[in-house]
Amino acid sequence: MPTEQNNIPTPSFAPPEMGEPYLLTPGPLTTSMEVKRAMLKDWGSWDGDFRAMTAELCSRLLEIAGDVAGDYDCVPMQGSGTFSVEAMLGSFLPQDSKTLVLINGAYGKRVAETLHYLGRDFAIIDKGDYMPPRGDEVAAALASDPAISHVVLVHCETSSGILNPVEEIAEEVRAAGRKLLIDSMSAFGALPLNVTEIPFEAMVSSANKCIEGVPGFGFIIARKSALEAAKGNSHSLSLDVHQQWANFKKSGQWRFTPPTHVVAAFIEALKQHEAEGGQAGRLARYVENRDVMVAGMRELGFETLLKDRWLSPIIVTFFNPAHPNFEFARFYELMKSRGFIIYPGKLTVVNSFRVGCIGRMDAGVMRRVVEAAGEALREMNVPDASPPEAALIERAKLAA
Ligand SMILES: *Cc1c(COP(=O)(O)O)cnc(C)c1O
Repeated sequence: MPTEQNNIPTPSFAPPEMGEPYLLTPGPLTTSMEVKRAMLKDWGSWDGDFRAMTAELCSRLLEIAGDVAGDYDCVPMQGSGTFSVEAMLGSFLPQDSKTLVLINGAYGKRVAETLHYLGRDFAIIDKGDYMPPRGDEVAAALASDPAISHVVLVHCETSSGILNPVEEIAEEVRAAGRKLLIDSMSAFGALPLNVTEIPFEAMVSSANKCIEGVPGFGFIIARKSALEAAKGNSHSLSLDVHQQWANFKKSGQWRFTPPTHVVAAFIEALKQHEAEGGQAGRLARYVENRDVMVAGMRELGFETLLKDRWLSPIIVTFFNPAHPNFEFARFYELMKSRGFIIYPGKLTVVNSFRVGCIGRMDAGVMRRVVEAAGEALREMNVPDASPPEAALIERAKLAA
């Protein structure tokens, strides 16, 4: 019999803490109480128990990547996600390599900027704020420049929320005999990235995105052959993925002080990921979060930057309403006072804001997000949330 109790959210999806807002941001994000609780213990980094935790972390991540053949290895790296991206680029791109960087937002730009710092040669395809790089463009660029040895792609470009066509691009890179590096920071664990289907050389993600851990380290999943070959490439002592890997193999330890509490929390997050049905289960919840939230926001008159085909279940960009009473700073505060932290937009052409779908939240929470947005509009005296004409003209440029 259904009872009142059935409607009470399970502890995992309860508000983070009394009075604490949900983080509708793509990391740091809202974590479960179990993940937070896992940090209430101190660990010795050299101790056998902690070494076993590191080994478990790596084997669970390789399982999510679908490495049944054992061709790949996982290398955790201290720092935020960007540290791991820089470590991957510096370690897998030989000094004399040339890289094609696919850009359609801030994270693609950051890859190019990093290569500039590293003094590695590169070319770019820059599609602007959010247009997706396509397979045929990549094929043409590779055909016209035989010096290009590697391609870097951002899986989900978190600055707009676009889900880039990774299969299509991976296929062209493979067909042209080049190597693919992927920034799957905001996608791995929720969107499929299986090594049997997308034969990448290396990819990178971090603890505080779709696995729903807390910030403090990233991880690189790479072909063992690439990890071997990376010896001597890196410009950096601390970001040398080959050395970090070699040390794990030799001693099971991180080379320098690991974020022990973050690792403990991450193990708990990985167990919850598995219990939810792994990548497929996580994706299903995020897709529902997105669908409930986007449908509700559209009812209020808001419009998404992207057409449905390109909308990721990670984060969604909405145009600011055209109405003169709408002011983002005020909207932000009104949402926060109702328990939801949203994210400003990152577009250069039109004003926008973003709402994340990832973290310890379900459809019930997303319905409350929409209610809060409706209340905020009423309080601001914005009767209609539709965007300016210019925004819709911009969106019309995107393929359906
Ligand atoms: C979050 C993110 C990063 C890393 O950002 P940090 O702030 O350094 O953790 C890199 N790429 C993408 C696509 C991201 O979403």
